[in-house]
Parts: sequence; C-alpha cells; structure tokens
Amino acid sequence: TATSGTSGTTGTTGTTGTTGTTPVIDILGLHKWFGDTHVLRGVDLQVMPSDVVVLIGASGSGKSTLLRCVNRLETHDEGEIRISGEPVRGDERYINALRARVGMVFQHFHLFPHMTALGNVMEGPTQVRGMPAAQATDMALGLLDRVGLADKADAYPATLSGGQKQRVAIARALAMQPDVMLFDEPTSALDPELVGEVLAVMRGLAGEGTTMMVVTHEMGFAREVADMVAYMDEGAIVEMGPPAQIFDEPAMERTRRFLGQIL
Ligand code: ADP
Ligand code: MG
Repeated sequence: TATSGTSGTTGTTGTTGTTGTTPVIDILGLHKWFGDTHVLRGVDLQVMPSDVVVLIGASGSGKSTLLRCVNRLETHDEGEIRISGEPVRGDERYINALRARVGMVFQHFHLFPHMTALGNVMEGPTQVRGMPAAQATDMALGLLDRVGLADKADAYPATLSGGQKQRVAIARALAMQPDVMLFDEPTSALDPELVGEVLAVMRGLAGEGTTMMVVTHEMGFAREVADMVAYMDEGAIVEMGPPAQIFDEPAMERTRRFLGQIL
C-alpha cells in the first residue's frame, strides 16, 4: 500500500508535516493510569492515510488500552490523540461522531445477538447516521458480499462460525465508512482453521487502501501486510519500522528477545 517513510518525521505539530499529509491517527505523548498502574508511558505513534500499522507486544504491555483510547472507550490522562487532525475530546456528541470515524473490531466480535447479520451491519447507518432502510440494506448486502457472506444475510450470530461472526463484525464497522479501522486481536478467539478467512478479508481491505491499526500475534500477516510494525513493551513503543527491519534486524535487544520467544 502507501509509503510509510514519513511516519515519525512529521514532528509534533501533527496537523501538517513536511509532506503536507495529515496523519489519520496522531498520538502524542500519551499517558494513562489505571489507579496506581501506569499503563501507557508516553506513546507517540502516527498512522498515515492508507497505511497498515501492526502493533505487537506481550500480554499486558498496553496494546488494547492504546486502541481503546483512540476511540475513547478509555480516557487518557496526558498527551493528545488527533484523528485526521482533530483532537479527541470528551463530550458525548463528539464521541458519537468519533466512533463513526474510527471503526473497531474486537477479539470477541460483540455482535448484537438478537439481530441477523444484515441487521447488525445496518444498525449503525440507520440508527446513528439516519440512513433510509432501503439504502442501508443495499449497502449492508454489498458489505456482506465483500466479506464473503452474501448468503448469510438472514443468519443470526449464534448460527455462525467464529470466522463468519468476525467477518460480520468487520462489515458492521465498515458500514460507518470510517477513516480508520482498529483491530484488537481479531483472530485470537478463533479456531485455527478459521483464522485464514478473517486475515484474507483484512488483507483485502489493506490492498484497497483502508487505513488500519492492528493488534495481532499473526506475524506472517504482519510481515506481509504491515507498512509499519510497532513493538510495545511496558506501555511504550520500544521500536517501530517496516516489517523487514523489525523482524530481520531489530535494533533493540528487547525486540529481539520478544521475537525470539514467539517466532
Ligand atoms: P495488552 O492488550 O497489551 O495485553 P492491556 O492494554 O489490556 O494490555 O493492559 C495493559 C495493563 O493495563 C495491564 O497491566 C492490565 O492489567 C491493565 N488494565 C487493562 N485494563 C484495565 C482496567 N480496566 N482496569 C485496571 N487495569 C487495567
Ligand atoms: Mg489486549
């Protein structure tokens, strides 16, 4: 996809770098505490348009918290997050608009169990955007087709496999036409034989230029699809670079040790 060479060189103004391109996600000096636990310790990260940034790191290093701060499922204590140049803030009206611009896919799907696949995908556009039902139906059917589930429009989540549920969840997030898609270990809850179908959908989105921030332990996917890989440890990004750099010649001893444990 797009080049990532500008990531990290746009300085701290965030809005416009030397290239004039505004990052879709611009995280500046982010800190977060849960009580006395300092879980984000000065995170700086930029995601440029059409880039795929894969976040790796041990359990408890703060990956989910970082993603959840980006769409305000968690509040941060210090620093700033800008989405397409606009600072994330706390008022409810803004948060609803933010959630439409920042799609999120969770490990455990979070589908509405009492709605069909089609109903799940239509819910956001009709309820949040006020899109007429006929138009939302057309769009939702198109999205279900795109994730390979055109024949499952009328199926309820309980009747779907984990891989199918996750693909519905991806279609549902896409239905809001977000600026960026966040994925938090989208294949970690799946049986091994179902992982590939979800990664294939994600690979397709990346190929179409979707801006994505992905937490995953699927290193093959990261190597193949990521523009940038960021290694996180103890609430900070230790090292970030193109996959070949991070996987083949990591600069930091901590990155080497982590990769040595999981690869
Ligand atoms: P990761 O996704 O990398 O496994 P998390 O962001 O889930 O890491 O967690 C980072 C740290 O924050 C961990 O020490 C975790 O126990 C703590 N934590 C996460 N969520 C909460 C919460 N709601 N309340 C208190 N501590 C939390
Ligand atoms: Mg997590």
